[in-house]
Amino acid sequence: MNKTITGLKLGLPKEIWTQDIDIIAPHLKEWRDIYNGNTPIMLTPRTTAEVSKCINACRQNNFKIVPQGGNTGLVGGQIPMGEVLISLTKMKKIRKVCKVNNSMIVEAGATLQEVHNAANNFDKQFPLFLSSQGSCTIGGNLSTNAGGNHVLKYGTTRDLVFGVEAVLANGDIYDGLTNLRKDNTGYDLSNLFIGAEGTLGIITAASLKLFNIPKYTQRALIAVQSPKMAIELLEHSRCDGKMSMFEVMSHISFNAVVKNFSMVRDPFKKAYPWYVLIDWDTESKAMGLRLAENLLSAAYEKKIISDAVIAQNETQSKEIITIRENMSAGQKYLGGSIKFDITVPIEYIPSFLIKTDKLITKLIPGCRPVAFGHFGDGNIHYNISQPPNVEKHIFLGKWDDASELVFDIVTEFNGSISAEHGIGVMKKKELAKRSDPVKYNMLRLVKNALDPSNIMNPRVLL
Ligand SMILES: Cc1cc2nc3c(=O)[nH]c(=O)nc-3n(C[C@H](O)[C@H](O)[C@H](O)COP(=O)(O)OP(=O)(O)OC[C@H]3O[C@@H](n4cnc5c(N)ncnc54)[C@H](O)[C@@H]3O)c2cc1C
Repeated sequence: MNKTITGLKLGLPKEIWTQDIDIIAPHLKEWRDIYNGNTPIMLTPRTTAEVSKCINACRQNNFKIVPQGGNTGLVGGQIPMGEVLISLTKMKKIRKVCKVNNSMIVEAGATLQEVHNAANNFDKQFPLFLSSQGSCTIGGNLSTNAGGNHVLKYGTTRDLVFGVEAVLANGDIYDGLTNLRKDNTGYDLSNLFIGAEGTLGIITAASLKLFNIPKYTQRALIAVQSPKMAIELLEHSRCDGKMSMFEVMSHISFNAVVKNFSMVRDPFKKAYPWYVLIDWDTESKAMGLRLAENLLSAAYEKKIISDAVIAQNETQSKEIITIRENMSAGQKYLGGSIKFDITVPIEYIPSFLIKTDKLITKLIPGCRPVAFGHFGDGNIHYNISQPPNVEKHIFLGKWDDASELVFDIVTEFNGSISAEHGIGVMKKKELAKRSDPVKYNMLRLVKNALDPSNIMNPRVLL
């Protein structure tokens, strides 16, 4: 082993590798503390050419590779278990901004927040918004095809790129950094790397689509009695594409945040079973307020909603989104949590929730279903919190049984077992078991063609 590590190091500049345990440690532990990894060495290339050198050195010395961006992934894909860790965090350059074409080329290690700031400097926006945006990187966003709060209007990360630059398992550099809006010259090779979770190569840069910043965004927090009413409200309030966010929170998830975080408060006088957060992009504040008032008073008349708070200024608007942004953190106050990130066709959300709540509480008596998320995209973060009288490790031991139950219902409703977070190592068996065999075989063929020795993130996805 030492011999090959020596060989690996010999081929690389000494500034781009470390075996210092204190430096590597934060990269081996992830946000939920589910996966704890190990690696013989961490590589931090600074350029695309250095990424290529790193991959060649690993391959020639028989090491497998795990690429890592901001380490905010939630399915264990970025945590090495003995593989070489290649961190992209030193590749942060904004290479080019083209205002007239609304495009920007950035390196993979730039955080999403840094990408936002760079776009804003040109009075533009890159409309991918995640609570993890201060840490997650654009390379990670692409590799997981991240979603977030504005998919309803702008689509997922896949919809927000022209192309990528990536280093393949054989060290070749694929240059797909086009900013052409039309290019019909065969397979969309850049798209292969999007959602590939680092299994086909390392994304080193991306050509992103930029958009105009909305003149005004009107926000409201609305109380409803049930998911069915939430879906009726979605239909009632779409408003010719003006709606840019439609997030739903069950009472238990909402309450866990307003009760435990001092920077937010419950704006309602009484508790409601469900809450909806809506954004509409409008031409001015006056138009935003008028639109929200008209839509919501009509919804109240029709008995779709029970109460509503329309944000009157930036502070109120920020306070409302802060509740939503702290859903995952708030849940930690409810004890251990078994989490699912699923999607079903929007019209089935109410039936999915009724059926799953009923069966999961039968499987794990006393557990508390905690549902929230991007209902406007059919995406539910369906989490289950620990029963108060059951020890955490006993509860978490039910994870596989709970998965089986939840995924069976997802399949019954023609949904997907992963809406946003990807497959990683967490849902690999489920993907193999539940995929259409033709699709699964095609995934394998693509992997074998681009990475025949299986050196790129070998334990992930397939
Ligand atoms: C608080 C919180 C909120 C979140 N909210 C959302 C949300 O709303 N929507 C959503 O979709 N996700 C969400 N996530 C999940 C996570 O932030 C996203 O998956 C994000 O895109 C991961 O980016 P990252 O840079 O941290 O990637 P990492 O965690 O470092 O890696 C994720 C995967 O991508 C691979 N990878 C990373 N960089 C590269 C690269 N350059 N080339 C090839 N492969 C690479 C890794 O090997 C791994 O398989 C959230 C996470 C947290 C902690």
